[in-house]
Amino acid sequence: MTENAEELAVNVLVLGAGPGGYVAAIRAAQLGQTVAIVEREYWGGVCLNVGCIPTKVLLRHAEVAALVSRHAKTFGLPEGVTASFQAAHERSRSVAEGRIKGVHYLMKKNGIRQFAGTGAFTSETTATVTSPDGSAAVITFDHAIIATGSEIRNLPGVTLGERVTGYIEVVLSETLPESLVVIGAGPIGIEFASVAASFGSQVTVLEYQDRILPAEDADVSADLTKALKKLGITIVTGARVVSANDTPSGAHVVYENSAGETIEVATHHVLVAVGFSPRLDGYGLDATGVGVSDRGAIDVDAQLRTSVPNIFAIGDVTAKLSLAHVAEAQGILAAEVIAAASTRHMGDYRDMPRAVYSSPQVASFGLTEVQARDEIGDVLVASFPFVANGKAHAVGETAGFVKLIANATTRTLMGAHMVGPDVSELLPELTLAAGQGTTIDDLITNVHAHPTLSESLQEAFHGLAGHMINF
Ligand code: NAD
Repeated sequence: MTENAEELAVNVLVLGAGPGGYVAAIRAAQLGQTVAIVEREYWGGVCLNVGCIPTKVLLRHAEVAALVSRHAKTFGLPEGVTASFQAAHERSRSVAEGRIKGVHYLMKKNGIRQFAGTGAFTSETTATVTSPDGSAAVITFDHAIIATGSEIRNLPGVTLGERVTGYIEVVLSETLPESLVVIGAGPIGIEFASVAASFGSQVTVLEYQDRILPAEDADVSADLTKALKKLGITIVTGARVVSANDTPSGAHVVYENSAGETIEVATHHVLVAVGFSPRLDGYGLDATGVGVSDRGAIDVDAQLRTSVPNIFAIGDVTAKLSLAHVAEAQGILAAEVIAAASTRHMGDYRDMPRAVYSSPQVASFGLTEVQARDEIGDVLVASFPFVANGKAHAVGETAGFVKLIANATTRTLMGAHMVGPDVSELLPELTLAAGQGTTIDDLITNVHAHPTLSESLQEAFHGLAGHMINF
């Protein structure tokens, strides 16, 4: 540390300005704490810079691309029109950059001191910041919130290179490869497969488990598989990747299929999307004495407090559920606990809303049917297909369904699993009802506007009660 390092004392130091960290900083400042936040690369985190936001722009362009090519006849559009991926790339960057500016604006507005550099703990009450411009700071804090996120996992045998990469290189690329092999059919793999296929790339998805999105309800995996195959995507489940390498002429992947045969694929690009690991290195965690679990995540209690009482951890680094909105909710909770304000509980993380923005989308919360039958036993299940929904026909997207699961004894919602147009927008009614313990008998009295996709929920509520109206 240079001798002329700035010295600063704050109530709360936040390490990492992703959706968890920057929201925690704002909430702490609102509650009267003095706050400093340190970010070394991505203001707004992976989410705003190279994740949630730019990918949603790419996915929107992918939908438009599919509309003007595959569905041109349906909508009376001229044949042979192709959407430009360059335009999608440029708009994704400008939207991301606009949102990043928004984060700086919010920090300033809330009187939060921003440090652009690498923060590192030197004890459980001090940290240093080293900035690329050569400036440095020593910060003393009463409380710290660790929001350092995660890094991509890789597989043995897979050598990352120019044509074998994680998602960041693909998000930032100005072009799409002619052919793409995606390793891993989690949310990242599925979203990128959807974008690339909609723009005309030849896409193959290799998934180790026996179905895509293996964490979701089995009906979701089956229905989405059908829809993605229609988009022209080749899906191989039960695929064990042995190796992936750059070669002078492209990329080369070797995998073993479920029959034990070794298959070799030559492709233009390989996207490795086999999950994230909490980031534990590079910021002096050892100097704090904060405990790490066997699973390699920072251990936290229900209030997000680590083993060191004045240090909290939120978001991907806790490996509870690596989603931006979960990190935000954790950030608010941690800030409120620190400021001794009244707060919420995170509850069961499985009840958090989840969404995959493929075409069609996937949205869910709570228990899958198998989990509900295992854990509760006596459950009610009702499904309603979008092919029986008027608005879905008007939009021209009738694939998919809503499937609801309720506890037969309490008659409250335990889970929802949906595939279809914009189904992520249907989640809040369901999570609110589940959170408040609203019964099926009350839910069926909630009138939904006609025609809307949400009427499918109304039908499924009636289905749970044993009397569907339109199916
Ligand atoms: P993931 O862990 O969700 O999925 C990885 C997939 O790779 C799994 O299906 C797994 O079975 C498969 N896999 C693992 N090893 C494999 C192997 N050897 N060969 C083939 N397949 C293999 O990870 P992700 O999709 O990389 O996403 C990372 C994190 O980011 C997750 O926590 C995810 O929830 C989050 N994320 C969420 C969204 C969203 O909610 N829309 C979008 C992007 C990322």
